Amino acid sequence: MLNQPVSILKGVGKVRQTSLHNIGIDTIGDLLNYYPRAYEDRTKFYNLSDFPEDTPVCIRATVGTSVRTALIHKGTTISKCKIFDEYGTIELTFFNRRFLEKQLFVGKEYVFFGKITTFNGKYQMSNPEFELVGRGKISGKILPIYPLTEGITRNFLADSMARALANTGEIIDDMPESIVKQYGLTPLDIALKNIHFPSSHQRLRDAINRLCFNELITYSSALAQFKSSIRSQSAPKMKVISLNPFLENLPYELTGAQKRAVNDIFEDMYSGYSMNRLVQGDVGSGKTVVAAAAAYLSALNGYQSAVIAPTEILALQHYKNFTNMFNGMDVRIALLVGSTSKKEKESIKSALANGEIDLLIGTHALLEDNVVFKNPALFVVDEQHRFGVAQRTKLSKKGQGCHTLVMSATPIPRTLTLIIYGELDVSIIDELPPGRQKIDTFFVNTGYDKRLYGFIKKLIAEGSQAYVVCPLALESEESDLASAEEYASFLQNNIFPDLSVAMLHGKLKAKEKQAIMERFKNKEIDILVSTTVVEVGVDVPNATLMIVRNAERFGLSQLHQLRGRVGRGSEKSYCILVSDTSNHETKERLNIMTKTSDGFKIAQEDLRLRGPGDFFGMAQHGLPKYNSIVNQADMRTVECAKEISEKIISSDPELKKPENQWLYKKVYHLRSKLGDSKLN
Ligand code: ADP
Ligand code: MG
Repeated sequence: MLNQPVSILKGVGKVRQTSLHNIGIDTIGDLLNYYPRAYEDRTKFYNLSDFPEDTPVCIRATVGTSVRTALIHKGTTISKCKIFDEYGTIELTFFNRRFLEKQLFVGKEYVFFGKITTFNGKYQMSNPEFELVGRGKISGKILPIYPLTEGITRNFLADSMARALANTGEIIDDMPESIVKQYGLTPLDIALKNIHFPSSHQRLRDAINRLCFNELITYSSALAQFKSSIRSQSAPKMKVISLNPFLENLPYELTGAQKRAVNDIFEDMYSGYSMNRLVQGDVGSGKTVVAAAAAYLSALNGYQSAVIAPTEILALQHYKNFTNMFNGMDVRIALLVGSTSKKEKESIKSALANGEIDLLIGTHALLEDNVVFKNPALFVVDEQHRFGVAQRTKLSKKGQGCHTLVMSATPIPRTLTLIIYGELDVSIIDELPPGRQKIDTFFVNTGYDKRLYGFIKKLIAEGSQAYVVCPLALESEESDLASAEEYASFLQNNIFPDLSVAMLHGKLKAKEKQAIMERFKNKEIDILVSTTVVEVGVDVPNATLMIVRNAERFGLSQLHQLRGRVGRGSEKSYCILVSDTSNHETKERLNIMTKTSDGFKIAQEDLRLRGPGDFFGMAQHGLPKYNSIVNQADMRTVECAKEISEKIISSDPELKKPENQWLYKKVYHLRSKLGDSKLN
C-alpha cells in the first residue's frame, strides 16, 4: 500500500498528482512522510481577560450584538458584532462574509478561533473561524500545518492524509523490535497517525521523537561511517614552548575564551595524538589569532603548517594578518592561491618540499597533489563549512598523520552539533574582543530608501564606508530582485554621483576581486555593492554600515554573517535589512535579527524556522533537507540515535551483518539521494 501512487486516493487527479510530485510526493508512503511543519493548538481555550495577542487562540464566548454589515468601498463589506464571556467583551470583524447574520445568533455560545489584535485601542478578532460549542470540528484539537505549494491547500492535504491513514492497513516497521523496546520508542504506525493528527500533546511529542529517531539514526550512521574513515591516529608530538614572544607581538590581549581555545589546542598538539578540533566562534570573535598561535607552536617545533581559506580574498587577508603577527619572528610564510603565477607556484612548491616554508596560506589550490610538504604537522581550515565533501576528503588525505584545526563562524545549535561534529572536539569562543559595540539592526521596506540614502551619505561624510549586499549578481529575469550590477550603477549615477561606488560579484576573476577589496580597504571606495562574496571573513574595520537588499532571500545565519562584516572597528555600526516582503513568517524571521546579536540564538531560531537541512548543508556532508519537524526532537532522542548508530558502525562499519540490513538500506538510500554512494 505504501508504494502505491497517490492517485489511488479520492480527490487526487492528474493536476493534484503533479502538484504533489513537485513537493516530492509520489506514493502513499511519501505522503505519510510529509510531516506538518507546525501545529495549531486548538485544545487550549482562553477567556476574554487573559489571552495572548497576535497569535491564533480559541475563545468560547456568546454573541452579544446582532451582526451589522456595511459596504466600506466598492466590493468590500465589513461585518461586525460583539461577543462576551464572564471576563470581558471584544468585537469581531469579518470582511466580505455574506449571510453571517444567518450563522451567528445573539445569545448563542460559540467557539471562535482567530488572532486577537488591538485596533484603535480596542481588542478585536478579525475573520475568525467559529462553530457552536460542543461541535469539536475546528476546536479542541491539535491541527497540522503543512508546508504548502501551488495547487495544494491545507484542507486537501489534511483530508488526503486522513484517507491514506485509513486505507494503509498495517504499516511495517523495519527497525528491530529490540531497539524500539530498548529506547522506549513509539511504534511506527502510531507515530505516523499522531504526527498528522495528534490525539494529545504527549502523543505528538512521542511521535516526533520516534520519527526523528528514524531520520537521525540514518544521518548519524552515514556520518559515523564518514568520520571513521577520516580519523587518524598519531601525529607529531610538540615540545612545550613559551607563547609569550607571540603574545607580546600582538597589539591586544587575548580574551579569556581565546586563551581557553589556545590551551585546548596546545594540549592536543602536545599529546602525540592527532588533534581533530573545531573552533566555533561568532564572526569577529577572533579565531584567526588562535589559529596563528597553533601555527606558531608548529613552526617553533620545526614543523610546517598550512592555513586553508575558502576564497582568495580571505587567503590574502590571512596572509597579511599572519605576516603582521609573525613580524620579526623566525617564521617563513608563503601564499599560494589559484591566481598565483605559474613561476611563483613552482618556486613555492619547491621551497615547501625543501622545508624552506614554515607556514603556507592559501585556498584549496594547496590541496593539489603536487603540493608536497616536507614535514607537515598542522592543517587549519578556515570557514570550514564552505568546503565541499571532495575538498574535505582531499584535505584529510593531505592531513593524514597531522593535527587538524577547523574553524567555523557558523554557530550550530547544540542538538545538531552532536551529529554534525560528533567526532570533533569543540572549543567555543563565546566572548567578543572588548570594546565592540552592538550593531544596531533595522528592518525596513523600500519605502525608506530615500532616508536610507541620506543615512549613507551622512555616515560616509563622517569618514565611514558601507556595504550593500544584493542577492543576485547579474540581471535576472526575476525583475523584482535588485540585481547587484544594476543597483550599483543606479547608486553611482542617480544617487551618489560624488561618491565612489564599486561592484563585487562572484563572476569576477580573483585578481579583480582582490583589487576591489584592496581599494575598499584603502578607502578609495565608499560604497561596495556586492553579492554574498563579502560574506566570508572579510575584515574592513572602517566599514560601519551593512545594507542587505531583498533580505528575505537570506537565511538568518547568513544575515548574521553579513552583519558581522561591520562592527569591527571602534565606531558605532549599523545593519539595515531591506525587504518588501508581506509574508508574516519572513517578517518574523527578519525581526529576530533586530532583536539579538547572539549567533547561537540566531542559529536556534533559524533551525526552528527553516529546519536543520541548511545546517547539515553547511557541514557540507551534502545531506539533503529534511522535514523541519526533526528540529523538535529532544536531546535524548538525538543522543540515543547517535549512541546506537555509533555502536552499530563500530562493530559493523560496512553494515554487512544481516541484523543491520534495515539500517544499511536506509543509509544506502540516503547516500544514493546524495548522488554519492561512497561518502568516503
Ligand atoms: P573571526 O573570528 O571572525 O575570524 P577575526 O579573527 O577576523 O575574527 O578577528 C576580528 C578582529 O578582531 C580582527 O581585526 C582582530 O585583529 C581583532 N581581534 C582578535 N582578537 C582580539 C582581541 N583579543 N582583542 C582585540 N581585538 C582582537
Ligand atoms: Mg575568520
